[in-house]
Amino acid sequence: MATGKINVSVENIFPLIKKFLYSDHEIFLRELISNATDATLKLKHLTSIGEAKVEYGNPVIEIKVDKEGKKIHIIDQGLGMTADEVEKYINQVAFSGAEEFLDKYKDSAKDSGIIGHFGLGFYSAFMVAEKVEIITKSFKDEPAAHWTCDGSPNFTLEAADKTDRGTEIILHVAEDSTEFLEEGKISELLNKYNKFMPVPIKFGMRTETLPKPEDAKEEDPAPTQEVDNIINNPNPAWTKAPADLKEEDYKGFYRELYPMQFEEPLFNIHLNVDYPFNLTGILYFPKLTNDLNVQKDRIQLYQNQVFVTDNVEGIVPEFLTMLRGVIDSPDIPLNVSRSYLQADGAVKKISSYISKKVADKLASLYKNNREDFEAKWNDIKIVIEYGMLSDDKFFDKADKFALYPTVDGAFYTFEELQEKLKATQTDKDNKLVLLYASDKEAQHSYIEAAKAKGYEVLLLDSPIISHLMQKLETSKENISFARVDADHIDNLIKKDEEQISKLSEEEKEALKKELEETITNKSFTVQLEAMDSAASPFTITEPEFMRRMKEMQQTGGGGGMFGMGNMPEMYNLIVNTNHALVSEILNADAPETKQRLINQSLDLARLSKGLLKGEELTNFIKRSYEMVK
Ligand code: ADP
Ligand code: MG
Repeated sequence: MATGKINVSVENIFPLIKKFLYSDHEIFLRELISNATDATLKLKHLTSIGEAKVEYGNPVIEIKVDKEGKKIHIIDQGLGMTADEVEKYINQVAFSGAEEFLDKYKDSAKDSGIIGHFGLGFYSAFMVAEKVEIITKSFKDEPAAHWTCDGSPNFTLEAADKTDRGTEIILHVAEDSTEFLEEGKISELLNKYNKFMPVPIKFGMRTETLPKPEDAKEEDPAPTQEVDNIINNPNPAWTKAPADLKEEDYKGFYRELYPMQFEEPLFNIHLNVDYPFNLTGILYFPKLTNDLNVQKDRIQLYQNQVFVTDNVEGIVPEFLTMLRGVIDSPDIPLNVSRSYLQADGAVKKISSYISKKVADKLASLYKNNREDFEAKWNDIKIVIEYGMLSDDKFFDKADKFALYPTVDGAFYTFEELQEKLKATQTDKDNKLVLLYASDKEAQHSYIEAAKAKGYEVLLLDSPIISHLMQKLETSKENISFARVDADHIDNLIKKDEEQISKLSEEEKEALKKELEETITNKSFTVQLEAMDSAASPFTITEPEFMRRMKEMQQTGGGGGMFGMGNMPEMYNLIVNTNHALVSEILNADAPETKQRLINQSLDLARLSKGLLKGEELTNFIKRSYEMVK
């Protein structure tokens, strides 16, 4: 048997880094600015604990693009490195000086905001540069150092004459990466990744307009001056304590995050935990439409104020991905695959924490200002209903504040509905029947019929509502939902006195036969009912179960419904045996008169259910004109 040590040749490591370490070449700038930020924050920490006896001042990180010379400079005023430290931190790939620092100053530096982690960030420079130089002067009383490396494992290290503290990284941009020499490109990257980093970042100069002096004439132009162009806000709202922020600050931060959004958010939720994981952030409820696919501006994920991604799948519960805002956590493992992320215990805890916080916030909004909550309901219901469907813990909380609006604009909680309707709206088995409409216009005649009987009609129109009703029916006892056109109202809800049919049994039989012979369309099942003589002669209804299954197939997630094929069209034609027109049909002498009356009445019923279309509609209209003339 032979044992030995696998020899990993360093020669091979650079091409590997260049190709595979990061899929996005553009993150080199984020990494180098993160290092510059770390160097600055370390110095801040060392001066604060008295280990560095220098003036911290107001350090800035500067980015310069030299298009002619094909160079990018990243200059910081941080703690710098001695020649020995360059040997130690730079020449050892995968040795993280950031981790070493955090280890060494464990307790005191815990909250210092140090970003670095894996000791690989610096080498991302070689993704875009053919040669990299470091010129650095430590805060310690030692000479400056100049390190150069052309992407092979060979480097040079010599003394330099830099006198001011800090580090300058010079990237000699490679031929295949010259896009990064465009000012516009760098601006775009800074705006994407560094907009909220904790140390001011300067990129170029900008012109600032000053107030006019007292004695200036009207036509005199306002004086201007050139100032550093700072591209970031080092103290974004989410890093502050909620107590220090006013409503206006939250709105202002929303505009900072989404400058292209003109609509204000409805409300926000400030997240802030430090145990058992670290997480801060602000989530906003935007106005949502019923279109679940429209979500342009997404939640942004940061790590110590460095932008990481706007794909928060797995970290934020899915039903909340429709929200906007930021989440910042050093505890989310980022360099791992998404599927691992979903199984990760810490990430699961984060996800359920966020869900809980959102539920609590909604509960308090409901409790503190119900009127306002009602006014916002239509804009937020989609998230809440989706959450109730997908998260049982959320369901339990939301059940207390989820609202059920009526067609007349009143809002009830489920419990209030139960209390209000338990005596008046039950079926023959004493089950509470919650009548609802999904479209006030299309179901107008059915809504009116139900209201005429004194029933309460809800307006439930979200795309996923059929799924939620299914869930409510199984999780609550003795309730059922029925759309106003699901069946005749008198069949849905038990009534005290039965209507007596004016027709004898023989007459009924004859009528049914006539109707079935004349109506050739097999989707209609004829049902004779004795109703109030003022109710419609013909009414078309669609069984709740059939219709809901169809809807659930359309919106997905039908739970085992797949593969059932298309549901057939099935309607009931309810014929009111007490209506004068129905007697007329029965008593008409000529068979043509009978057929004409039946067909015209059926078409009117179809029209009111929105089922009359195309050629049939055209023919119906033609026929009606003939009749009125
Ligand atoms: P990490 O940031 O994860 O520690 P990097 O590869 O990004 O790893 O950097 C390696 C180390 O090099 C850093 O930890 C730090 O000690 C040192 N370093 C890099 N850039 C700078 C800088 N601008 N100023 C001071 N030290 C730096
Ligand atoms: Mg780093």
